Amino acid sequence: MAQSYGLLIGGEWVDRNGHKTIESRSPVNGGLVATFPRAGRADVKKAVKAALDAFPGWRATPAPARGQILLEAARILKQRKERIARVVAREMGKVIAEARGDVQEAIDFYEYASGEGRRMFGITTPSELPNKLLMTRREPLGPVGLITPWNFPVAIPGWKSGAALIAGNTCVFKPASTTPTCAAEFVGALTDAGLPPGVMNLLVGPGEEVGEAIVDDERVRGVSFTGGVDAGRTVYQHAAARLISCGLELGGKNPVIVMDDANEDLALEGILFGAFGTAGQRCTATSRVLLHAKIYDRFLDQLVARVEKLRLGDPVDESTDVGPVHGEGQLKKILGYIDVGKKEGAELVTGGRRADAGKLRRGTFVKPTIFATEHGTRISTEEIFGPVLSVIKIGSLKEAIRVANGVIYGLSSAIYTDNVNTAFKAVDQLEAGITYINAPTIGAEIGVPFGGVKATGNGTREAGPTAIEEFTAQKTVVIEYSGRLQKAQIDTAQVSGEGGARKNARRN
Ligand code: NDP
Repeated sequence: MAQSYGLLIGGEWVDRNGHKTIESRSPVNGGLVATFPRAGRADVKKAVKAALDAFPGWRATPAPARGQILLEAARILKQRKERIARVVAREMGKVIAEARGDVQEAIDFYEYASGEGRRMFGITTPSELPNKLLMTRREPLGPVGLITPWNFPVAIPGWKSGAALIAGNTCVFKPASTTPTCAAEFVGALTDAGLPPGVMNLLVGPGEEVGEAIVDDERVRGVSFTGGVDAGRTVYQHAAARLISCGLELGGKNPVIVMDDANEDLALEGILFGAFGTAGQRCTATSRVLLHAKIYDRFLDQLVARVEKLRLGDPVDESTDVGPVHGEGQLKKILGYIDVGKKEGAELVTGGRRADAGKLRRGTFVKPTIFATEHGTRISTEEIFGPVLSVIKIGSLKEAIRVANGVIYGLSSAIYTDNVNTAFKAVDQLEAGITYINAPTIGAEIGVPFGGVKATGNGTREAGPTAIEEFTAQKTVVIEYSGRLQKAQIDTAQVSGEGGARKNARRN
């Protein structure tokens, strides 16, 4: 029996009264997962007001005390991990081991963020004048909007909200319309941990309406968005019109370079995991293999043999390797790209169609697919966001780097080589926010910054010690303890030949 949830506004779960209904359905078999009231613009106004009202109290709560609530939320998430992971597997479609990892990432980041409450370091630096102190401190922005995609329905809200909350912001959170249950379960852990009413508000509704209304609301001081380039550009434009802070984490077309001196077994495992884990629906998924000509035939044969053994099925079954793609929209888009690949003359090496035998027919499954193609084709340069891998032959590191960098994105990248010089040249030259040496393109850790270059984003970084930058403004504090007026920016340098000090010459 599907559960019905509410919207969370000002600490109250708002039920369906007067709202239309959003149904969340499983990509595994089309079954109803849950129903939600569909938020509209009036709900955005209420949720932003609640966030604004809660802001002074939350901002005034000492950061270490905020951290205690985040730590308690992490503890509750740990207790509920298996239950929430099963919701993730059913609603999003990723296999259960990855669903547990999705929840674990939120737990890890909440633990990390709780500690940030005792750091959030500023700087102190010498003044150019005596008896004067210069320092900085971090201040929250105010109510912020968090807009997230369906592919990491717990981890990404965890990253964003952990950083926003520890820094003292209040939040209006709009998850993807297709994974609201994961979001509600996550938010439930926060409220049960004692987060004061209004500090976190949850709205479920269409991006074009609810998402844009959040960004456009004049009381919202910042927005953090993860999703595709098109929606990201729209959000950025709306945020720019209001001159508010905007963090963007967008798409990827992540390459793995396999050199002829690579540990081939290791590379094979990494590519299988990177390309077909989460059915290829990770922003860091391996979508291109740039394979050295000297090992090309042997490696590709082995890769195909392994890919054809991957088991598709119910993601909750521990023996399943690949779950469904995320619903009809994803299925159509991915099959569309497979058609494009065939039409543009790429060689279909394996897969290339919907998987619909037996029970799979009820869900949206795609056979893990490999194309042998050339750089420059659409399938080798555009983000497909599914279990479709392009393999491209390269003859040298120089060529591999040129191909790797020849796309609009720059999120993750990897190189397999046993040569340290080759590895560091790749680190130097790959245009990406993340470069892995002898490891797959996926598997980001929360202790280091996460984000990309080029069309992958606008330079903000999530996770790691820099996560709070997106959600804070720096205040510079100047403390004068000389007891007299000291004039900074006065050039008192002796000017040779002029026989005296040049005084009161303002530099700006
Ligand atoms: P979308 O861009 O379609 O949606 C992302 C979120 O934005 C959803 O909550 C969506 O709401 C909302 N949204 C859509 N249009 C607007 C709008 N005009 N204004 C405000 N909000 C809007 O992406 P997907 O959910 O399909 O996610 C897949 C994409 O996310 C891929 O491109 C992937 O690469 C990227 N991604 C990037 C990551 C990174 O860190 N770089 C990590 C994970 C994914 P609704 O669901 O109602 O449409």
